[in-house]
Amino acid sequence: MSWLKVEQKTSSQVMQAEYSIAPSEVMAFCPACKAFQTVWFTNGMLNPTRKFTQNGNHIYHDCGSGEPCSLYISV
Ligand SMILES: [Zn+2]
Repeated sequence: MSWLKVEQKTSSQVMQAEYSIAPSEVMAFCPACKAFQTVWFTNGMLNPTRKFTQNGNHIYHDCGSGEPCSLYISV
């Protein structure tokens, strides 16, 4: 399995287009603390999780980073 980086500005569009129905596994990389964790999206929305918060098209880690996480999808 390989991973394709999703550009920040189009991440929501890509997720909605490619994963409109089934929950999809996405890797989120935090640029601040270098955390690299799996999160799940359903219909372009982040599934509730304690460690990440969705704000518009961006996902933020709960370490307090002001930089949105980079997102990677499996291809
Ligand atoms: Zn972080």
